[in-house]
Amino acid sequence: MKTAILYHKELERYSFGQGHPLCADRFERFLSFFSSRCPSYKSSFKLIEPEPVTDEILELVHSRDYITAISQASEGKILPDISRYVSADNLNPTTGYVPLGIEKGARIIVGISLSAGELLLEEESKNTIGIGGGMHHAKPDYGEGFCFYNDVAICINNLRHRYNLKRILVLDTDAHAGNGTKEIFYHDPEVLFIDIHQDPRTLYPGTGFISEIGSGTGEGFTVNLPLLPGASNEAYRYLFQEIIFPLSDEFKPQVIIRYGGSDPHYLDKLTNLGLTLEGFRMIGQQVRDISRQHTQGKSIDLMLSGYNLTVLPFAWSALISGLLDIEVDLTGLREETAPSIDSRLKETKQMVEELKEYLKRYWRCMN
Ligand SMILES: [Zn+2]
Repeated sequence: MKTAILYHKELERYSFGQGHPLCADRFERFLSFFSSRCPSYKSSFKLIEPEPVTDEILELVHSRDYITAISQASEGKILPDISRYVSADNLNPTTGYVPLGIEKGARIIVGISLSAGELLLEEESKNTIGIGGGMHHAKPDYGEGFCFYNDVAICINNLRHRYNLKRILVLDTDAHAGNGTKEIFYHDPEVLFIDIHQDPRTLYPGTGFISEIGSGTGEGFTVNLPLLPGASNEAYRYLFQEIIFPLSDEFKPQVIIRYGGSDPHYLDKLTNLGLTLEGFRMIGQQVRDISRQHTQGKSIDLMLSGYNLTVLPFAWSALISGLLDIEVDLTGLREETAPSIDSRLKETKQMVEELKEYLKRYWRCMN
């Protein structure tokens, strides 16, 4: 069975203007790189172009009031109270307004993640890869961090609604903490949200501490794994071994969603983590191992971030290469200045010990 890559030729509508860190040419750049570097591209993958989603789908997570405001602002209407709905970093830095047409791009991205979920559950694709997915800073009534609609949360709520799922594992490997996704599922025991990110004291959004473990019936189902700047491949590997594998084995997910692009790479321009391409490949492999254990090798994978455009196609491809166990030619990226292999491993072990103290009330495997 071929793996579906969800992609849309109008993804470039998701643009904050020329020179912005979240530039829109990333999508095309990745696809042309990957298709030329993966020898089995034609035989292993099929490209699928989903429809932009309707209001009804957006309302699985967002309020009608918010959707209306973002739609109108994106069509050029001047809303005096726009700061109620979006932070300044969701505006075009040149014009000071919500970028024209970006809302259509956001609906396309939600369509991509929605289809990635449905194709997997309908067994039309063993794994699905959504290009552009992972808008993890968007909240039900507020857009920030370059994100308007939380495609991940919409995908999850749609899957639960349609297929009556009760245990969904979400692994956020983006360098920034997924504050929007966390908030949406903070009280929810059906979504185990595990988030690896750079220490929130040193990076936006400033949340994602180990003490944030969920609330009410969702207590214990939010797991934050903050890493110090420079954290290496081995620090990541340790998190999988000590936290992510044991929790997955106890939770027994019915669906696995991983998202996050290339911004944990050590050469990324907005962040300070320490992964190399080998680390991205390792993350893909770990997700493959978890999915073999629990979901017949199936998972949903979404990619968006990355603020070093040279690194981006290499790192996204390394993730896919590990996830699917396929050959991709990753030569050509110079990584001689990477942090040492065990950079921040000691501090990571310490963080894990402290985190286990928070989690052991809820999980046998954390004792
Ligand atoms: Zn990020």
